[in-house]
Amino acid sequence: MADVRDYIRTIPDFPHEGILFRDVTTLFGDARGFRMAVDQLLHPFIGTRIDRVAGLEARGFILGGAVAHQLSVGFVPVRKKGKLPGETIEEAYQLEYGTAVLEAHVDAVQPGERVLIVDDLLATGGTAEAGISLVERLGGEVAGCAFVVDLPDLGGRRRLEALGVTVHALTAYE
Ligand code: IMP
Repeated sequence: MADVRDYIRTIPDFPHEGILFRDVTTLFGDARGFRMAVDQLLHPFIGTRIDRVAGLEARGFILGGAVAHQLSVGFVPVRKKGKLPGETIEEAYQLEYGTAVLEAHVDAVQPGERVLIVDDLLATGGTAEAGISLVERLGGEVAGCAFVVDLPDLGGRRRLEALGVTVHALTAYE
């Protein structure tokens, strides 16, 4: 049986020497692979209440938009600082070198809404934790975080689960 892994390409030394970059553009580019990924991302959440899907820039937009469409709910873009036109709240998070900031529109999530967060890959969990924090500061409840790839050695799953968040990943690379 086909597996999402069959469609993920590994590129050595990107963006730095020694990094194995898991490239999901080949998954997105394949009709069967893309549909499989979207269906599997939302599968554990079928029958649970999801009011919106939040996608983390940029590959989380591609997956999250498709998941939101499939669930017939709205989509919330969580963007890098300075890209959203309306009033925003921001959350800083740690990168390997330095910090980065994610933003969401103040009216993107209504209090009490259950939000599913989607991104392509979970590494240290810093990006997802910033997304969780934005959703919660807007009064939303995180229904779960769904990723295509988990890199368990980097500890992201443990970090998010310690916050009480359900983590769903389609495949893992040790
Ligand atoms: P974290 O914040 O350390 O969990 O890193 C996750 C973020 O970095 C996600 O938004 C990913 O898109 C991106 N990322 C890190 N490594 C990779 C990779 O190998 N392939 C694709 N995206 C990656």
